[in-house]
Amino acid sequence: MAKVAIREADWIEPESGEVAPATMLVEDGRIAARLDVGERVSADWEPIARPGLSIAPGFVDLHFHGELVATPPERFAEALANDAERMLREGATAFLATSVCWPQSELGDAVDALARAADACATGASCLGLHLEGPWISADAPGAMAPDAIRPFAASRDLETLARAGERLRMVTLAPEVAGADALLDALADRGVVAALGHTRATTEVIDAAVARGLRHVTHLWNAMGPLHHREPGVPGAVLADDRLTADLICDGHHVHPSVVRTTARALGERLLLITDRVALPERGAVASALGEAAREGEEGPWRRADGTLVGSALGLDGAVRNLRRFADVDLAEAVAACTLRPATLLGVENERGTLRVGARADFACLDETGGVAETWVAGAPVWRADGNEGASR
Ligand SMILES: [Zn+2]
Repeated sequence: MAKVAIREADWIEPESGEVAPATMLVEDGRIAARLDVGERVSADWEPIARPGLSIAPGFVDLHFHGELVATPPERFAEALANDAERMLREGATAFLATSVCWPQSELGDAVDALARAADACATGASCLGLHLEGPWISADAPGAMAPDAIRPFAASRDLETLARAGERLRMVTLAPEVAGADALLDALADRGVVAALGHTRATTEVIDAAVARGLRHVTHLWNAMGPLHHREPGVPGAVLADDRLTADLICDGHHVHPSVVRTTARALGERLLLITDRVALPERGAVASALGEAAREGEEGPWRRADGTLVGSALGLDGAVRNLRRFADVDLAEAVAACTLRPATLLGVENERGTLRVGARADFACLDETGGVAETWVAGAPVWRADGNEGASR
């Protein structure tokens, strides 16, 4: 499969918002050229026709827990490999392995194990690195995190944790009002790591100060933060008003009401991103995990504790795209941009991922007319097909 010409498909360009037929030339795992329909393709390119499919860049998930939440560190590599393989069926070709709040005594070793598991993750979707969701968050906005694992940032102890994640550390969700958060923000800015606001009750003033220290994103907007009040705008008010901030959202219809999704999409426009915050627990009743005991109703429902607390979604980014279109009435290219170009840009990998530009990796999510993933390509080769012919390209 060194040189292929993919024909008769519509290509979804997140930069321009265009969905148009073209022929894409793929060589050595990368997009070599884009030709207009009817342009001649020389005989050394193997033709592959994909009529009826709309092809998007592979989806990029900034917030994915998967099996990690119910797996001990010594088996993280196995859990991550399973997750990386499974998400191909949802069109995701890259993700950040996302932690939960581990107790102080376990944090360093768990981060270390996660970094090594990310390095070892060689097939399926690409693990782009680590997203630490806490533990430096607010005890007043724990979401499903274990309250006793939440704590302030102590540079003398916690810089070592960041160092153990090393180059693999790409994103940290934090609460800027907790003690030591300024030192954490400075350390992240030094390392070029995305600092994201989440699990927080920060005021506008505290958020402004954090933005001045490099904070630029909001994690799962509306969840695990205070509400929008007209005299206390909090995090939702800050992100709606401040164009410097982007925000991601769990678009499963459970974490955020569809009408709030619609309002958010209208207000944020290109600043809106989609994540899954997916949690994969064994398929049986109430099961214990790092997030406590949780169960769910039906296969599509989110995980909940007995008291109703949401523990994570069962969402794939393909479902998030379909829901965003349905809830917010946005067009296909717009919804695709929210989980391709925009997260790639936040991570600074937009020349490589989340795009169909020439020179980028040939990672694709091939969608049928219902928005279902028919086929997923990684590095110029089909790696998953809904019809079960995995690896069979023609
Ligand atoms: Zn999460």
